[in-house]
Amino acid sequence: TRFSSLDLPAAQLANLESIGYEQMTPIQQLSLPVVLAGHDLIAQARTGSGKTAAFGIGLLTRLIPRLFAVQALVLCPTRELADQVARELRRLARYLDNIKIVTLCGGTPIGPQIGSLEHGAHIVVGTPGRIKDHLRKGTLVLDRVDCLVLDEADRMLDMGFAEDIGAIIDSTPASRQTLLFSATYPKDIEQLSAHYQREPERVTA
Ligand code: AMP
Repeated sequence: TRFSSLDLPAAQLANLESIGYEQMTPIQQLSLPVVLAGHDLIAQARTGSGKTAAFGIGLLTRLIPRLFAVQALVLCPTRELADQVARELRRLARYLDNIKIVTLCGGTPIGPQIGSLEHGAHIVVGTPGRIKDHLRKGTLVLDRVDCLVLDEADRMLDMGFAEDIGAIIDSTPASRQTLLFSATYPKDIEQLSAHYQREPERVTA
């Protein structure tokens, strides 16, 4: 199925065409109608399946460019994945002017990150430990987050991020949309979903 079958802004459809996306991948076909309708989602998907666009196109549709506040937060297990997600989101966001996407990961100095947050970010992509550090310092405010994505959630739990993830989610509005992507569904993923999602729709590609 083509992206043009979805109710997307014409400028985004043109952008997708310009980056060579015409047909949706299976995970996009299953997820995007749910995401665009504003529902919570629990999706079984691996890297390489096109999952970034499955949530990215959705969160960009909800974004208010003139509002200088973090409106979407994507939590990733590693810096490599966070960089990859940010790169893909920047491509998907090319149809919007002046959207700022900031990556916040450990292993890099915190000072420059604080500087870029001060200039206003619409979307934050990062790893739980460093994002928790920013919350503790008061350099990151999440009270306008409208869409929260847990990417490779099973890997984040395996790495011991459960507590940080909980603290981060508790700093976002209860009214947010919560999208959970995971390659596997162990019991702790079910618990995470039960605790933080509202009637999530389940899809498996
Ligand atoms: P991801 O699983 O999000 O890491 O995406 C894997 C790769 O597929 C990335 O290089 C994307 O740019 C590409 N991709 C995602 N969706 C599509 C699509 N609908 N058509 C063509 N390429 C895509």
